[in-house]
Amino acid sequence: MHTSPIPTPMDGIDVFWHEGMLNHDSGSGVFDSGLDPGFLDVLEKHPENADRVKNMLSILKRGPISPYISWHFGRPARIPDLLSFHTQEYINELIEADRNGGKMLCAGTFLNPGSWDAALLAAGTTLSAMKHILDGHGKIAYALVRPPGHHAQPTQADGYCFLNNAGLAVQLALDSGCQKVAVIDIDVHYGNGTAEGFYKSNNVLTISLHMNHGSWGPSHPQNGSVDEIGEGQGFGYNMNIPLPNGTGDTGYAYAMTELVIPAVQKFEADMMVLVVGQDSSAFDPNGRQCLTMEGYREIGRMVHFLAARQSGGRLLIVQEGGYHVTYSAYCLHATLEGVLNLPLPLLSDPIAYYPEDEAFAVKVVESIKQYQKGTFPFLKGA
Ligand SMILES: [Zn+2]
Repeated sequence: MHTSPIPTPMDGIDVFWHEGMLNHDSGSGVFDSGLDPGFLDVLEKHPENADRVKNMLSILKRGPISPYISWHFGRPARIPDLLSFHTQEYINELIEADRNGGKMLCAGTFLNPGSWDAALLAAGTTLSAMKHILDGHGKIAYALVRPPGHHAQPTQADGYCFLNNAGLAVQLALDSGCQKVAVIDIDVHYGNGTAEGFYKSNNVLTISLHMNHGSWGPSHPQNGSVDEIGEGQGFGYNMNIPLPNGTGDTGYAYAMTELVIPAVQKFEADMMVLVVGQDSSAFDPNGRQCLTMEGYREIGRMVHFLAARQSGGRLLIVQEGGYHVTYSAYCLHATLEGVLNLPLPLLSDPIAYYPEDEAFAVKVVESIKQYQKGTFPFLKGA
């Protein structure tokens, strides 16, 4: 399934995908509510729709990055696979919901006919991508999956997510002998599900850069604040970086340089996971963080260098949110260009961006840094 000439296999990205994931249909209504009060002639699809991922697929197939991509088939997860992260009781709830023809599990999160099979494919496809790396068949793998997963907690669905794809892959890495896994989540929302799954573990450093949105109800009780840092053995191994609205490319690069890179280096991860959502972009209906393609490209480069130094270049990338149907695909392309550390951009930004002002973001990052230095045992003296 290789496309055109690739310099060497190590210079490429192995993409795992299965078209069955398009069968999850979250419906339509006023934005993500699933409701139609009757005021609008034109209702949009739910933001987490198949179109966004169809464009991610096509830009990787037909964009200038395509020579670097190798395609692999995903597969459905089996039920026992899911129990490394989720409780049996919760999985039973999902199976039951599917059997009954569907259920709204929480706000905006609709399990409809076809959704469960798609969720199993997303989980299994992410596990296949991680296994590919663990078996030494490739160093960089990208799981192009939906429904997304990083809000799904061991015991409940949240924020369009049913199964925690990245969390399952992290657990597979641990079960396969990895000692320390670093997760860097740049989706605009707090990766609360992944954090919750490893909250008491010092084998997984979960880092989330997100909009400062706080808790949004019973399905998302976590605040994503700087002081949620883990418990027990995991105390000091969950790093929340809530960034102000409009942080932008420079602000994100500053947060990566000042907070993320030093922490991951000190942690000495032997496996890296980049959890990517393009809803941190300047045009996303669900976010206010104002990243552009160049910002994503730069984060990709930084993660490339971290993986090269820490994990022998081994890096799993997992798709999460990203709801602008055009720009999400372009930002994905830019991220992967960065991850490959290509010397020049392959694709220019089709949308002019707004001026940015990182001054406030820099102040916030500095204050987070001071807090972490005094609180995270493994960062003391850093
Ligand atoms: Zn998100």
